[in-house]
Amino acid sequence: METFLKENYNLQAVEIKPLEGYDSENYRVKTAERNYVLKIYKNEVHLKELLLSENRLLQLLSKDNADSYSVPIENLQGNYLTETATSFARLLSFVEGEFLADVEHTPELFESFGKFLAGMDLKLLGVRDIAIEAKKTVWDSQFYQLSKKYLPFIEDPNDRKIVEYFFLQHREIIEPEIENLRKSVIHGDANDWNVLTKNGSVSGIIDLGDMCFSPLINELAIAVTYCMFGKENPAESVLPIIKSYHEILPLKENEIATLYWWIATRLCISVCNSAKTKRDKPDSEYITISEKSAWELLQKLVKLNPILVEDEFRKACGFASKIVDTSEEDLAKRHKIASKALSLQFAKPIKMVGAAFQYMFDSAGRNYLDCYNNIPQVGHCHPKVVEAGQKAMAKLNTNTRYLNDVYNEYSANLLAKFPSSLTKVFFVNSGSAASDLAIRLAMTHTRKKGIVVMEHGYHGNTRVGIDISHYKYNRKGGGGKSETIIEAEIPDTYKGRFTENDGSAGELYAAGTIENINANALPIAAIIAEPIVGCGGQIPLAKDYLKHLYPFIRQQGGVCISDEVQTGFGRLGQSFWGFEMHEVVPDIVIVGKPIGNGHPMAAVITTDEIAESFETGMEFFSSFGGNPVSCAIGQAVLDVLEEENLPNNAQEVGGYLLDLFKNLTDKYEVCGDARGKGLFLGLEFVEDKIGKKPNTKLASFVQNKLRDESILIGTDGPFVNVLKVKPPICFTRENADELVGKIDKILSGM
Ligand code: PMP
Repeated sequence: METFLKENYNLQAVEIKPLEGYDSENYRVKTAERNYVLKIYKNEVHLKELLLSENRLLQLLSKDNADSYSVPIENLQGNYLTETATSFARLLSFVEGEFLADVEHTPELFESFGKFLAGMDLKLLGVRDIAIEAKKTVWDSQFYQLSKKYLPFIEDPNDRKIVEYFFLQHREIIEPEIENLRKSVIHGDANDWNVLTKNGSVSGIIDLGDMCFSPLINELAIAVTYCMFGKENPAESVLPIIKSYHEILPLKENEIATLYWWIATRLCISVCNSAKTKRDKPDSEYITISEKSAWELLQKLVKLNPILVEDEFRKACGFASKIVDTSEEDLAKRHKIASKALSLQFAKPIKMVGAAFQYMFDSAGRNYLDCYNNIPQVGHCHPKVVEAGQKAMAKLNTNTRYLNDVYNEYSANLLAKFPSSLTKVFFVNSGSAASDLAIRLAMTHTRKKGIVVMEHGYHGNTRVGIDISHYKYNRKGGGGKSETIIEAEIPDTYKGRFTENDGSAGELYAAGTIENINANALPIAAIIAEPIVGCGGQIPLAKDYLKHLYPFIRQQGGVCISDEVQTGFGRLGQSFWGFEMHEVVPDIVIVGKPIGNGHPMAAVITTDEIAESFETGMEFFSSFGGNPVSCAIGQAVLDVLEEENLPNNAQEVGGYLLDLFKNLTDKYEVCGDARGKGLFLGLEFVEDKIGKKPNTKLASFVQNKLRDESILIGTDGPFVNVLKVKPPICFTRENADELVGKIDKILSGM
């Protein structure tokens, strides 16, 4: 090395020290006079033009700022690149300063960073360079697709899904806008280990190896990304950088609109590449150094309302806020077009504009923890489900009158989740259509008409749906029980007639129902019940209740229907279906809500025998039921449930949450009961523990207060005094802590 420096640059090195490097060997060279950096690269054809471009741009940048940038040094032949058969070498001046990563981050420092970066970008704006413009690398976020192949190297599927989510958002939000974004040669890696500071100000930048021709806003995005690491409020913390950048190089509104998404993309590219490196070189500390911080930041970003972040960025640049409260007009418009029978949650309704997994975002810029939306079972906008739907929709959407592979495969996979006696599936589009069809199947098979329904049960909005839903026909606006219905007293072991949940209450309740059926003389076609009665206030049927009742129904010639619309698909944890927790096997199962994670689909699953009885000559056809798009989505849901081990998560986090709720029942007289299974739980409010008188006012108060605390939760039960908890089952322990912490705060503050 010494000889090389002497021979090519006529320099007498007194010290040569290796430095960290990504795609070159780097050395710090000390002579008696000054410091240099020597960079040695493999001699690869494509590199030469790029290194020459880098030198040219460094000369441009360092022209009046020799202390801020590495100045290329000529060799004795007058060249900035020293070429041998195997290598290229460049000698550069050494930029002095402390790394931005090593100093305290103050708003003043960040302001100086924004100014410095904008100053550099102003010099680069308009520069054309063929070699750089032809470059396509993984680190240039516009080519985020190149990093997708590293996704499988991210081991934890819960981490991977966040990256997939942000890549999906990049495709949806940035890509359609990309042609309208200013492009420029940019530094491309203004991370805090490349930026130098002196006396509390940014003074220089090194390493132009990632220069690229990319949307200008990407430069700022990369810079702010690393400055967000470890910050309590990441978006807010970097506003001084954005503000001062904008003062020197004014940003356009469409650039600001994409900034947040560029930041997220950069983080995702970073973690993808760390995952790959970790696999290739498990000991490499240098490349995985920022991985932990990147993951922490990604976890934080996914909860942020993008509208709010954009608004903060806009305001930092002096643009007016885009957030306007249009709820009055929206409400008026809604009342014009929709019946008031369509209810709205909350006196001042929320206008939702986006969501990610268990978080939801409203138009006012708030983010919410969603604790009661059990339709997006695997998480709102789960990228695997969204992409499966988009892809299938772009290929073929037709009906079940044609043979179709997705239909066959998905149906088989769905049926494989059921006991071996349940072998046939019919697809429809809503839980209501499914319960309607289930009743038809039961009546056709048994040639009887009587239906046993559960007190407070709900099964659907069709004529038949209402007829079999005590929760509807027996309440305000309901027409009362029809002739063919027999009501079963809800086997509630908290406030019902029998409270020993060791099986004896279940037996006694079943005996009561049997007595009622016997007294009625109505030929029974079916019993329909949910394993945990949601609208009844999350009431698990008493232990052994179904075990005693099912045989009796069958003995009468009836069939047993389990409504798994709420409880199915792993929500209850170990019991993938609710009937499993009652140790019974139904003859007909109806599933809906989570089956498509929000895509309108539902199904009826039954036995060969019952399906055969339905072959009467009348065709069964559903225009949309079982179409290939729905089947692809349903399959994606099954895949994600398995890949992310979500039923297990429901079991684990649900158990933890139930324990926390039980602590509340120990602490507060008004918390009467905590119950449920997995992530299908209820917390019942009462006046006092002895009388168990329903405390409807308190449930409503807590629900509304939680909304103010950015938590969405339901209330239900005949007295609407039960908090209903049924979040997407990717819900975490931290989410559970947050929910219970806030309920505790509300109750203790009363
Ligand atoms: N069954 C149960 C248990 C339900 O909770 C619901 C919906 N809340 C339905 C059936 C009806 O489903 P859908 O709204 O999809 O028609």
